[in-house]
Amino acid sequence: MALLVQKFGGSSVGCLERLKAVAERVRKTRHAGDDVVVVVSAMGKTTDELTRLACSISRHPPRRELDMLLASGEQVSIALLSMALQELGVAAVSMTGQQVGIVTEAAHGRARILNIRTERVRGALAEGAVVVVAGFQGTATSANGNLEITTLGRGGSDTSAVALAAALGAERCEIYTDVEGVLTTDPRIVPGAQLLEHISCDEMLELASLGAAVLHPRAVEIARNYGLPLVVRSSWSDHPGTCLTSNRRQRVAGVALELGKPVDALELVRHQGLVALSHVPDRPGVAAQLSEALSEAGINVDLIVQSLHEGASNDMAFTLERQDLERAQAVVSSLSGHLGGPQPFVVAAYSELAKLSLVGAGITGRPDVAASMFATLGQAGISLRMIATSEVKVSCVIEDNDAAQALDLLREGFELAPSQVHLEAIPCEDSTPAVRGVALDCGQAQASVHGVPDWPGAAAAVCRALSDDNISLDTIVQSERTRQTPLGAARDLAFTLPRQDLEQARQALAPLLQQWPGAELIPGGPIARVSAVGAGMPCTAGTAGRMFRALADAGINIAMIATSEIRISCVVAQDDGEAALRAIHRSFCLTG
Ligand code: ADP
Ligand code: ASP
Ligand code: MG
Repeated sequence: MALLVQKFGGSSVGCLERLKAVAERVRKTRHAGDDVVVVVSAMGKTTDELTRLACSISRHPPRRELDMLLASGEQVSIALLSMALQELGVAAVSMTGQQVGIVTEAAHGRARILNIRTERVRGALAEGAVVVVAGFQGTATSANGNLEITTLGRGGSDTSAVALAAALGAERCEIYTDVEGVLTTDPRIVPGAQLLEHISCDEMLELASLGAAVLHPRAVEIARNYGLPLVVRSSWSDHPGTCLTSNRRQRVAGVALELGKPVDALELVRHQGLVALSHVPDRPGVAAQLSEALSEAGINVDLIVQSLHEGASNDMAFTLERQDLERAQAVVSSLSGHLGGPQPFVVAAYSELAKLSLVGAGITGRPDVAASMFATLGQAGISLRMIATSEVKVSCVIEDNDAAQALDLLREGFELAPSQVHLEAIPCEDSTPAVRGVALDCGQAQASVHGVPDWPGAAAAVCRALSDDNISLDTIVQSERTRQTPLGAARDLAFTLPRQDLEQARQALAPLLQQWPGAELIPGGPIARVSAVGAGMPCTAGTAGRMFRALADAGINIAMIATSEIRISCVVAQDDGEAALRAIHRSFCLTG
């Protein structure tokens, strides 16, 4: 007899008929002899409706009261589902997050789970009942010692389910939803999206955080960290769905469930070179032409960034193996003057660089990790030539001379054992496809800080100011061009962040920017971010070029580019988002 956690999302309990169908499915599992804990979301669009109600009373509803309101949605579903089960003759008991003992931090609206008390659930299971738990909610002790209701963030019922499964040592967690499983992209935008039978947790973490709403990224993070078998499948059919794989052994979650050590490895790759281009014309097709010329010359580039710049030109930079540097410089220089800009672009090449990366699940969700990394390096006077962030990695390109010192500082700072330090890139499996899925995120805004002094630690200070306010940056790109300010040479730092955090970011940065004459935060226009994800990317040359070509052929201009090892993200105008997603999906032949 196994213990299973089954989670049913809002779409699976959207009306009473669906709720009864869920009860019937749970009954079957129970009758097959398994113990079952069910986690449910609020019915249908209840959470959206409650949010609308709150916003019609207050433009910025107080977070505590909003949590109180939103948590009520799940309380309705657990009571009704428990009744429906009892109607079918199945013993069942409903429990709120507080009754179970899902203890979270006190951050309303985005609380992380600290630990889950399992006695009450285990007691009810031992009595033969199905336990029906309210997803998305927990309980926290406030600063003055009172118990408060918290919520985990939109889509957070997935996280409740996976966390409960990890705390109970369940055999697996099954997420039931309105699609057959994880697909190559969102079927609402691309009807030909295909089901993936398996996907690694690392790939899924990227996809989920880049807009694939089918799973809450933090649920994937927990499954990965505790080696918990996780399945996504349809509540409308018996199709087996998608299995998420992680190479960790399963272990039971205890205290600091979601707050365990966020960094589990440090990687150093030496002998890197960097080619930086400035004044590259800002029109569709330029990134594709450059990338294609490099891959035709047999040169594999690693990280690529393109930052947004004023005027009609961009900066672009990419890293590659040191031995390819001169050839790459010659290839791109030969294109200067042929790409149609008002002036030839400027090419600079840098050798003797190293790429240093911190690895761990959910790094973007914990902005303090990147901020501490940049600050540690900045305090030691180590300049960052390039930054690349992803859900599972934050990388900095630094001078090779600084690599040994940087490695020691980060190893100590993040308390890593020698076995967690890798002195070369972890090889990828050749058999893994370069692109497994593509995602679109229209919830991000683009912003840049102009005039960040060009000294070590300045970029770190920007990230720190934002991370202190719990604002996560993504797609961080530093400009190659410098501008003159009263403090000397300064660069621009462009990034994307959740749109609802833009105003808070402005306030958080104000005191810092006041200290830098000429520095200011410039919010960008409405954007969409399209991303391609695949674990096979590092060993498949030309993947980025293919993505840029797909966008160019669809006439879509790329405003920003940021890559990490297993993903490529492009920022485009918001109106181009869906067309961009379709074009990329098609170009990687993901439609069956
Ligand atoms: P639930 O109510 O079950 O939590 P969600 O709406 O949160 O369901 O998530 C399911 C939806 O996620 C699907 O209907 C689909 O439109 C969307 N989606 C986005 N990207 C993907 C993807 N890669 N695979 C499957 N579904 C996706
Ligand atoms: N009901 C919550 C929401 O709509 C949580 C969830 O469905 O996962 O965001
Ligand atoms: Mg969901």
